[in-house]
Amino acid sequence: MRPFDKILIANRGEIACRIIRTARRMGIATVAVHSDADRHALHVRMADEAVHIGPSPAAESYLVAGRIIDAAKQTGAQAIHPGYGFLSENPTFVEAVEAAGLVFIGPSAPAIRAMGLKDAAKRAMEKAGVPVVPGYHGEAQELVVLATKASEIGYPVLIKASAGGGGKGMRKVDDPAQFKDALSAARREAKAAFGDERVLVEKYITKPRHIEVQVFGDSHGNVVHLYERDCSAQRRHQKVIEEAPAPGMTKEMRAAMTKAAVKAAKAIGYRGAGTIEFIVDGSNGLRPDGFWFMEMNTRLQVEHPVTEAVTGIDLVEWQLRVAAGEPLPLRQEEITLDGHAFEARIYAEDPAKGFLPAIGTLHHLAFPQATANGAPVRIDTGIAQGDAISPFYDPMVAKLIVKGADRAEALEGLADALEATRIAGSTVNTGFLAALARHADFAAGDVDTGLIERDQAALTAVPEADHRMIAQSALAASGLKAPGGADPWDALAGYTHFNPIARRLELMRGEATIAASVTARPNGKVEVAVDNGAAITLPVDGTGGGQSPALLWPGHVTVFDKGHAIDFRLHDPFAEALDHGGADLLTAPMPGLVKIAHARAGDTVTKGQPLLVLEAMKMEHTIAAPHDGVIADIATEGAQVSDGTVLVRFEEQAT
Ligand code: ADP
Ligand code: ADP
Ligand code: MG
Repeated sequence: MRPFDKILIANRGEIACRIIRTARRMGIATVAVHSDADRHALHVRMADEAVHIGPSPAAESYLVAGRIIDAAKQTGAQAIHPGYGFLSENPTFVEAVEAAGLVFIGPSAPAIRAMGLKDAAKRAMEKAGVPVVPGYHGEAQELVVLATKASEIGYPVLIKASAGGGGKGMRKVDDPAQFKDALSAARREAKAAFGDERVLVEKYITKPRHIEVQVFGDSHGNVVHLYERDCSAQRRHQKVIEEAPAPGMTKEMRAAMTKAAVKAAKAIGYRGAGTIEFIVDGSNGLRPDGFWFMEMNTRLQVEHPVTEAVTGIDLVEWQLRVAAGEPLPLRQEEITLDGHAFEARIYAEDPAKGFLPAIGTLHHLAFPQATANGAPVRIDTGIAQGDAISPFYDPMVAKLIVKGADRAEALEGLADALEATRIAGSTVNTGFLAALARHADFAAGDVDTGLIERDQAALTAVPEADHRMIAQSALAASGLKAPGGADPWDALAGYTHFNPIARRLELMRGEATIAASVTARPNGKVEVAVDNGAAITLPVDGTGGGQSPALLWPGHVTVFDKGHAIDFRLHDPFAEALDHGGADLLTAPMPGLVKIAHARAGDTVTKGQPLLVLEAMKMEHTIAAPHDGVIADIATEGAQVSDGTVLVRFEEQAT
């Protein structure tokens, strides 16, 4: 039975595509909505119909409830799936959808409201008998009150935005002297991200682990759980790799956590997919009295595929059935766990540069279909090769999901699959994710939310470009290549009849220029000499030493090593001129807003000193001095800057 004939998906990117896949399998027609920037996006191409709803900024398109509801009415859709983010946890939107005679695929407005603000949710859960994180979640917001409460709770404390989500507006404070500044920063971020600067203060749990329980309710009063996920691998309170089940989970702990989660959902008459997030004290193993409610996410979660992998349940199908009034498809005792699954979030960002978000066209985008062991790799993405990561939305490229019979097998598969992923055109975090998957503590299941920060330098280190990588890149850049399937020598035959052909070219990596010469030999091989050193011999297709060949894209060539993209710029005299002029300039790496200028013209600054805070992609990034010097000019607070805008100019250094 088909719960609906046609639904509208009020979202974009991977989650819109993922919802369309299930709807299509169930024979349900789909309507996509899109902004200007997404006119040709994958979710638009995948859906049966698409409606343009406004300009690129989400506030003028994906967040405009009226346009989305009009699009549903105009196309005859019966229900709206909100995905995650955007309007998914907006109770006013739910009411407007229902007032228009449409079904909202998600919980009721009152249930969302009950969990919408972290402080109110904690008060409600306390009443329902669910353990909550000790802290102050009252209404007072004055600095003196909050600072006093923080001292009573005992440092370290965590300041959180009441309206928070996605780790935004959150600050850990170790010392009372830092409380005031941390509060201002949390408020600023909360105001910008949620338009609400209220905060709460919590005890910071030592050796924290994040373990959450997937719950599902229907409109007949049934609530079940679909076991737990562990999302302790985090950076700045954002999830990086998630897994199910949680490593080290005991029968007693699972029983206590799932019972508390079901109780929480029942307390608010919950319908649909939801997640109860708990913070767990991991300092002494998992103990049934060592977990506390943090918040409930009243929607489908980004990491839901790991639950799908270990339960065999399609959560979107359940959402659609429950929204249409059907009872839950399975009873609690029919829901079982099988194997272990991981999800890694592939983002356009540069781990080596403090995880600065990146944008750009993905000229190459290739994922493995299976791990080295033959296990299938699930890729959830909203992007195809040739599409761009735009500055308007979340810079997620894809989610990579792998399952194994046990944790070790699944983790090996995850690392394999990440190392076999080849993305070029923008900077992505696959090398970092692969290093994390291979990290000894992570492999041992000894993960707390501080692991990544503790070992950040090692996890984000990029391998040096070695002779082999340079040779492969030079070969790709030289244009000598074997046509698909044919004898590689054929491609060269025309001009290498008697004499080997040789090409000299220059590759640039950072400040360094590398000279290479590529010589074709009459045996399907090429020799590449780097900086006049000894030559390396490679097959003409560039697959040296079992490595995949380097990939060419406009102005660049990229070779891969353990999931890291090693990128070389091709010599371009014009670009070089711009580069040289840049020695005393700091430019904006991406469009953003200058939030704070820490220095003024005339100031003498030292290397590493913070100069500016740039807000981009809803996060704050600190721009530090690259060397000692005197500032000639600096961008003003409140300035809107675009990619490449000069932020800081240094006085010319006396020589
Ligand atoms: P959590 O699961 O802890 O809520 P997630 O990482 O799932 O955190 O998501 C963080 C927040 O950002 C959520 O509110 C989610 O809805 C939102 N979000 C994440 N990715 C996107 C996206 N691509 N588009 C819109 N919103 C997003
Ligand atoms: P968000 O809505 O941004 O997801 P959460 O309240 O879920 O906010 O917290 C995000 C992350 O911050 C958690 O997954 C956890 O890693 C960390 N965190 C939250 N509360 C605490 C706490 N009291 N002690 C230690 N870490 C915490
Ligand atoms: Mg959370």
